[in-house]
Order: sequence, then C-alpha cells, then structure tokens
Amino acid sequence: MHIGLFRERGGDRLRAGVVVGDEVADVTDRLEALGPAGPAGLWQPVIEDPSAIDLTSLADGAERRPLSEISWDSPLPRPGKILGAPANYRAHVAEMGNPNTIYEWGMFLIANSSVIGPEGTVELPYTDVRTDHEAELAVVIGRTARNVPRSEALDHVFGYTALLDITVRSTEDRSTRKSFDTFTPIGPWVVTADEIPDPNDLAVRLWVNGEPRQSSTTALMIYEVERLIEYASSVMTLYPGDVIATGTPEGVGPLVNGDRVVCEVERIGRLEVNVSDRHAKPYASREGEAADASV
Ligand code: MN
Repeated sequence: MHIGLFRERGGDRLRAGVVVGDEVADVTDRLEALGPAGPAGLWQPVIEDPSAIDLTSLADGAERRPLSEISWDSPLPRPGKILGAPANYRAHVAEMGNPNTIYEWGMFLIANSSVIGPEGTVELPYTDVRTDHEAELAVVIGRTARNVPRSEALDHVFGYTALLDITVRSTEDRSTRKSFDTFTPIGPWVVTADEIPDPNDLAVRLWVNGEPRQSSTTALMIYEVERLIEYASSVMTLYPGDVIATGTPEGVGPLVNGDRVVCEVERIGRLEVNVSDRHAKPYASREGEAADASV
C-alpha cells in the first residue's frame, strides 16, 4: 500500500490518503477515529499498530479523488527522529576522500524540522559554500526497537520512502550541515514493507534539471538495512515513525538556484523538489565569530 498526506488543490487541510490506481482514497476520518496524530502525523496510530485497522480494506468505500487534483505533502511531516547513515556506499566514500564508514563515524541525527514534502523548495543557506543533493532510501520504523539483532531487524520496519539528505559541505558537525529548514524532503508517500520484498535491492537515481547525477542500487550499501537497524538500535531506542536515511551513493553534487531535483527509488516512486537561493547569505555572515586562539 502507498500511504501519504495530501491537500486538495487550493485546500488547506492536510488529509490522509491511500493510493488506488490513479486516484487517492481519503481515509482522514477513519484515521482520526483511531487516535491522535503523533510525531508521524495522521498515520501514527497505524504505524504504531497496523493491527488496529484492516489496512487492506481501509480504502474501501472511501471518497476518492484523481491524483491529478491533489498535492502530496510529506507522509511523515515531523518524524520523532531522523537518523542518517554517513559513508554507506564505497563509491561515495571514495569521492569524499575519507576512508571511514559507520564503524568509525557512527550515525548522525537530522532535525525533524528540516522535513518538507514533494514540490517543496530547498532553501540554500549560503551563496558561497556548496550545498549538495544526496538521494537515499529511507526506512520507516514500525515497532519499537532496542538492541535488535539483524536477523529480526526487518520485523521492525513499517515501510519505506524516498528521502533527500541535503548537505552543506563545510566544517560543522553533520547535524548542523544537514538540519537547515527544508533540507530533508521525504515522500511522495510511504510504501508498506509487504510491497518491498528486498530493501537491499532497489535502484536509487537522481536527476537535476533532467540530467542524471546519481544512479546506483541499495545492493551496494556497506551497512544494509538490517545492519543499520541493528547498529542504530544498539545506541538508541527506535520508535514507530522514526526514519532512517540509509546513505547516498556516488554522484553527489552542488545545487543552485532554480534547480529541479528528481529522486527516484525503485518500487517507491519519485520525489521532486525545487531549489532556491532567495534567502542565501555569504558564509562569513553566519551567526557567531571565530574562537580567539589567544584565550
Ligand atoms: Mn546522506
């Protein structure tokens, strides 16, 4: 099942939808009857407990609208946490010029306030420092996970989506460089795990203005999905609705004003966003000042 959040064209209210062919079934009222929206939004009660509702019949009888008449928002507007995997493809490790992988780096956190949805706009922060695209498969946690061995890891997955891990190439910690508002496009929907037989065998591609920039497969991840969950859950408890960005393959490159970015993950779909520099400032004008080495 493809589940997401949408607005009717010109409408303000965020609604929950299930994709049925070229239509979306509006299941907002049914989800609201299950319980309050949580960090994962309207879908929280279902992500926490899929047995709370019969997913296969959820869309039966629901009002439908053509996909051409709606706009998708991020399916997970404010995840409890977003964990990132650095250096998880050999060819990307090579292009970044540092041999370390997760074993040395660990994983990093991205602020959930950086999430935007399809057709959102990535706002470049700086006029003179490179900001890169990173196309990634994202894992949506479905069951609380703590010290989960890799053999049981996939039992804790609700589904998968596409994610862009937008990154400033500067000296700050990753959590700063990847957490600017608008830096984490997620979507267009979440595909439930039953429709992804092997998350470690999905093509990941990215185009900028129609030009191919990244093309690889999750089969080349250094830490596959099971190991990422094993590693992450050895450090911190993963909760339903948390997101793991699985890392990006080679081909990362700078974004500039006016770019149109398309990130495609096989079996999931296409996440498309725009890029703007309307709020960009010179890097030297950022908040703060250099440490005084004489003190
Ligand atoms: Mn990344």
